[in-house]
Amino acid sequence: MTRELSGPREKCGVVGVSLDDRAAARPLYYALYALQHRGQESAGIVTHDGFQQHDHVEMGLVGDAFTEADLDGLAGGVGIGHVRYPTAGSVDTSCAQPFSVSFKSGSLGLSHNGNLVNAGEIRDELAGHGHAFTSDGDTEVIAHDLARNLLEADLVRAVKRTMGRIHGSYSLTIMHDDTVLGVRDPEGNRPLCIGELEDGYILASESAAIDVLDGELVRDVRPGELVVLDDDGQGFESYQLVESERSAHCFFEHVYFARPDSRIDGNLVYDVRRELGRQLWEESGVDSDVVMPVPDSGRAFASGYAEAAQDEGASVEFAEGLMKNRYVGRTFIMPTQDARERAVRLKLNPIRDVVEGKTVTVIDDSIVRGTTSRQLVELLRDVGAEAVHFRVGAPAIVAPCYMGIDMATREELIAADATTEEIRAEIGADSLSYLSVGAVATALEEAEADLCLGCVTGEYPYDIDGETTDRDVERPVVGDAAPADD
Ligand code: AMP
Repeated sequence: MTRELSGPREKCGVVGVSLDDRAAARPLYYALYALQHRGQESAGIVTHDGFQQHDHVEMGLVGDAFTEADLDGLAGGVGIGHVRYPTAGSVDTSCAQPFSVSFKSGSLGLSHNGNLVNAGEIRDELAGHGHAFTSDGDTEVIAHDLARNLLEADLVRAVKRTMGRIHGSYSLTIMHDDTVLGVRDPEGNRPLCIGELEDGYILASESAAIDVLDGELVRDVRPGELVVLDDDGQGFESYQLVESERSAHCFFEHVYFARPDSRIDGNLVYDVRRELGRQLWEESGVDSDVVMPVPDSGRAFASGYAEAAQDEGASVEFAEGLMKNRYVGRTFIMPTQDARERAVRLKLNPIRDVVEGKTVTVIDDSIVRGTTSRQLVELLRDVGAEAVHFRVGAPAIVAPCYMGIDMATREELIAADATTEEIRAEIGADSLSYLSVGAVATALEEAEADLCLGCVTGEYPYDIDGETTDRDVERPVVGDAAPADD
């Protein structure tokens, strides 16, 4: 049986800044705006003014969550922020972040992107030692564990001890009193990068957040690295706390989740998507009158595909034949299938003049449940497409994501137990092709062994109950039997 992971999965955007002589609240607010695509359920900021923490966490979009007065109340030149991804169904205020709390060892604020595999075990152990939990999220587990370690060890050692105990994916921005830190899990599953601002430094999930503050990307935080920002905004210190032989970068960040204008692990997401589109043409290009993206994420794939086709002399024309209503939220997280189908129709409208009488290739970044593709094929036929070929810029998603991206359950995944031909018939396309795993690795310029491909192979780089792992990995032993690991 597949183990239920504890608590809601965290699929989020995180940020932290340390500035020399300026309030951190507004830069954090703008950075969260740039990370809005990573989470729309709640937004929050915690700052420190040298004496105490100030926090404001609210449900909803960044633009709605803060008033001018809220930002004015967030005093201090250091702080962290968070946007949280929506979960299907219920809205849970207790899981909104940053999580902030005061312990004997000082005040702590935590923003987490990722998902722990063993949070339940650590929670049980800490609860046994008298720690009281107010939410069922992973983030509070990390905060309590760190607070406990800070009673006995300095900051760097305390973080190292906690990293030795938690297993799973995490990119964290942490504020301990007025010090801001960033931590990336030993496999570097979720992104995190460092930027230099005119008067300080920033840690953020994606470099687009650095761009909006007119900063410079310094580099990615390395897997297993702790970065401590100087509290006067003058620099940062780096501690490689855990060494791992292989990384497990999430390929889906590049395919769907991240902004195309972000640079992650050395690659511009836009370039990767164009290259994935080129690979798609190489592997399964089909002659048609037009090639069109499913907006917005399909756009770079379709332009790469069309360019590769034209390089080879094919007469495929790139066209925008589907228009998106940008005020409709993500259909993916609608609670019922009926609502999802209605939402696809509200969100995407074909332009008859572009499509009528033409053979069409449609490119989307991924097929998850198949709701979008099934509806699109039908819509395109309704407005007179002569043939509809579907091309997907990722391999078939056959297994759930336990590492922080909402991917639906195995039962809901259309490709979990169907062949490509069966899926083609199900969505009603004339032809259907996915990209190969090898092409993904080529486009990312990484070895397959250094990527997390769990959702497309069913083999995970972490030790997840009931699932197969693709490497020699075991969860840390927690509890009183566990060794102290300084
Ligand atoms: P589906 O309609 O269930 O097959 O989902 C596929 C569509 O959802 C594609 O258009 C993707 O761009 C989009 N998508 C893929 N993964 C996610 C995700 N984790 N969250 C929200 N949307 C997604």
